Amino acid sequence: MEVERDEMEVGVLFVGAGPATLAGAIRLMDNIEAYNEKIESGELEGEAIDVEETPIMIIEKGAEIGDQVLSGACIDTKAFFELFTEEFLDENPPPFNTPVTSDALTVLAPPTWKPTKDSGSLTKLLHKFTLGASNSIDAPILPPTFQNHGNYLGSLNEIVKWMAEIAEEKGVMIMPEFPGADLLIEDGQVVGVRTGDKGIDKHGNPKGNFEPGTDIRAKLTVLGEGARGSLTKLLIKKFKLDAEANHQIYSTGVKELWNVKPGSIQPGQVIHTAGYPLDGNTFGGGFIYGLNDNQVSLGLVTALDSPDPYLDPHRKFNEWKAHPFVNKILDGGEVVKYGAKTIPEGGWFSVPKPYAPGAILVGDSAGFVNISRLKGIHLAMKSGMCAADAALEMLKTDAPANEEATAAYYHNVLGSWLFKELWDVRNFRQGFQRTMFFDKIPGMVTGSILAGSGFMAAGLLFGLGLVTLLLGVLGVANVVPLAGFILVIALFVGSASLPLGSFPLGRMTMQADHERIKKINIGGWSRESTEQTAVPQWREPGISAAADQAKFNEANKGPLAPARALDVNAPADSINSNGVQMDKVTSVYHSGSTHEEDQPAHLVVVNQDICHTRCTEEYGNPCQYFCPASVYEMVDADGGKNRQLQLNFSNCVHCKTCDVRDPYQIITWVPPEGGGGPSYSGL
Ligand SMILES: Cc1cc2nc3c(=O)[nH]c(=O)nc-3n(C[C@H](O)[C@H](O)[C@H](O)COP(=O)(O)OP(=O)(O)OC[C@H]3O[C@@H](n4cnc5c(N)ncnc54)[C@H](O)[C@@H]3O)c2cc1C
Ligand code: SF4
Repeated sequence: MEVERDEMEVGVLFVGAGPATLAGAIRLMDNIEAYNEKIESGELEGEAIDVEETPIMIIEKGAEIGDQVLSGACIDTKAFFELFTEEFLDENPPPFNTPVTSDALTVLAPPTWKPTKDSGSLTKLLHKFTLGASNSIDAPILPPTFQNHGNYLGSLNEIVKWMAEIAEEKGVMIMPEFPGADLLIEDGQVVGVRTGDKGIDKHGNPKGNFEPGTDIRAKLTVLGEGARGSLTKLLIKKFKLDAEANHQIYSTGVKELWNVKPGSIQPGQVIHTAGYPLDGNTFGGGFIYGLNDNQVSLGLVTALDSPDPYLDPHRKFNEWKAHPFVNKILDGGEVVKYGAKTIPEGGWFSVPKPYAPGAILVGDSAGFVNISRLKGIHLAMKSGMCAADAALEMLKTDAPANEEATAAYYHNVLGSWLFKELWDVRNFRQGFQRTMFFDKIPGMVTGSILAGSGFMAAGLLFGLGLVTLLLGVLGVANVVPLAGFILVIALFVGSASLPLGSFPLGRMTMQADHERIKKINIGGWSRESTEQTAVPQWREPGISAAADQAKFNEANKGPLAPARALDVNAPADSINSNGVQMDKVTSVYHSGSTHEEDQPAHLVVVNQDICHTRCTEEYGNPCQYFCPASVYEMVDADGGKNRQLQLNFSNCVHCKTCDVRDPYQIITWVPPEGGGGPSYSGL
C-alpha cells in the first residue's frame, strides 16, 4: 500500500526508552551543553549544536515510559554516580526502594526429597540437620558474583520514569506509543527509522482512524530496544554484525511483585536460589528481593538453551513458588503484578559488532549483561554514555556518521569498565552448555566446575606453594625461591579468576538456543519419561507422581498426543500450592497487557503448516509451553480431524521468548500498534 508519510529530521534518534538510551540521551544533552558553552566563551572554535533545529529524540513502543521495562531489580549504582554529580543526586535522589542489607545463596532440593514415616532414623536426622523443614541449604561461602552489599533494590519501571523526567527537563523529545517498525537505509547507511502505522485492521486494510507511521531521519540511530530487539535483528542481519561472534543465547525471566505478611522478609534482604525446579541441564535460578512496606519482588530465570522440549518458564516459576522455602515467604500474601522478559546471557563473546554505518547498539540489544551477577542495568547505562560521547563528535561536523565515526563508540566501550567487567567473565556461561563423561555429568555441574576452575587451580597452587615452602624452611631441599615463585603464580591465578568465568583462557563457543532443543522420543525426552518436565508438582494433593504420570500417559495416547501433552491453562483451583500458583491467563491479567484486537497479529509465523505436521511430531509444539502468556494454542480443526495453531496475540507480554526458542525459526516478533503490550507500572 503506497501512502504519504510525514518526515522528521533529528540529530540523534534513540529507539526504546530503557536505562541504556535514557542514560545516553542525558549524557548527550550534558555533552552538548558543555560544548556549546565552550563555543560561546570562545574557548573552542566552531558552531554550536542547535538541538532546537535537530532535536535529540527517544521513541518508545509502550503507552507510557517505563511500561515495558522489566528487571529484578538489584542495582549496581556505579553508572548513576558517573552520569550524575553527587550534588545532583543529593537534591534529586533516584527512586531506589532500599539498600541491600543481607545476601544469601540458597540451594533448593526437590520438595519430594523428604523422609517418610517409614524412613530410618539416620535418614530423618540427616535431613533435619542438612535440608530441614524448607528442604533447602544456604551456601556456606557466597561466590563474589552474588555479593550485593552497596547495591540498591528498586523498580526499574520507576527508575526509568525518573530518568525520563530528567531527560525531558534537559530538552530531549520523548515519544511514547511510537514503535520503531523498520530501518531506513540509503546507500548502505542507516539514516533513521520508520515508525509503525496505526489503524490497520486484522486483514491489513486501513481503518477510519488510519495514521501512517513517520519517517524519522537521523544522523545517528541508537538501538536500545532491550533483548532481541526487532530492529536490532534487522541491523545485525543486514550488516552481518554477528559474523565473528558466538551465538547470542537468552533466558526468560518471569517475575511477580507481592504484598506479603509483615515479617515474611526484611527490606533489603537478597536471596538467590539455585537447584529446584530446574533440571541439571537447564541453567538459571531464582531471586527474592525484600522491599519496603512488606513487598517482595521475586522471579525465576530459566535458560532457553535447555534441551527440554516441554520447557515452560512460567510453569517452572510456579513450581518454584510452591517450594516450601519460597512458599513460606508468600504464604498469606497476594500478587500485585506479573511480567516476563528475555535476558541475553551469552556474555562478551556473543556481543555482535555493535556498530554499522549510521547506527549503534546499546544495552541488552548489544548483549551487555553480566549473567554471573544477573546484572545489566549499569552496563546498559554505561553503553548509552559511551554512545553519547561518540555522538557528540558526530554532531560537531556535517559529515555523515559513517562506520569510522560509529566505530568510535566501540572504542569507548573497549576503554571502559563495561568491557573489563564482561571480559572477566567471558567464558562463564559457555561452560553450562557442556556435559562430561558421556552426559553423565550435566551442564549445571560442568559449568560450575569450569567457572570455579580458576579458584580451584589457585587453591591447589597455593597448597603446593606452602608444602614447598615448608620443605625449604625445614632444610629438606633448597626450594624456598621455588616456593615463592609458586605462591606468586597462585596469587596471579587467584586474582585473575576472582570474578569466576575467566578460565579457561581462549574463547569457548556457544550453540544457539533453538539448536539445543531435543526432539521428543529422542535423547531421553520421550513422552514416557517426561515426569520431571511434564507433570511436576502440578498435581492435586494426595496424588502420587507415578499415578499422575499414568493418568497423563493414558490421556495422551495417539498420534496427536504431543500437541496435547500438557494442560497449559490448568485452572488455578486445581493447583496445590497455598494459592501462590497462577495459570497463564491470570498472570496475563496481572501484567496489564492489552492490544487493539482488530490489527494484524504481531507474531509473524511464516509457515503455519509446519506447526501441525513436523513440529507436532518432532517437538510436540513447544510454543504452547515456552510462551509465558498463553499466546500459542494448538486447537482442533476440521471437526477434530486435524489441529492448527491459534494465536491469542492480545495476551502477549513482549518477552520475545518465541522469537528466540522456536525450533524452526519461523516466528518473528514485530512491534504491534503503538501503546499495545504490558503495563509494568511499579513492577
Ligand atoms: C527478570 C529480570 C530480572 C533482572 N534483574 C536484574 C537486576 O536485578 N539487576 C540488573 O542490573 N539487571 C537485571 N536484569 C537485566 C536488566 O533489566 C537489563 O539488562 C536492562 O533493563 C537493559 O536495559 P536496556 O535499556 O538495554 O533495555 P530495556 O530495559 O529492555 O528497555 C528497552 C525499551 O525499548 C522499548 N522498545 C523495544 N523495541 C522497541 C521498538 N522497536 N520501538 C520502540 N521502543 C522499543 C521497550 O518497550 C523498552 O521500554 C534483569 C532482567 C530481567 C528480565
Ligand atoms: S507471544 Fe512470544 S513475545 Fe509474546 S508473550 Fe508469548 S513468547 Fe513472549
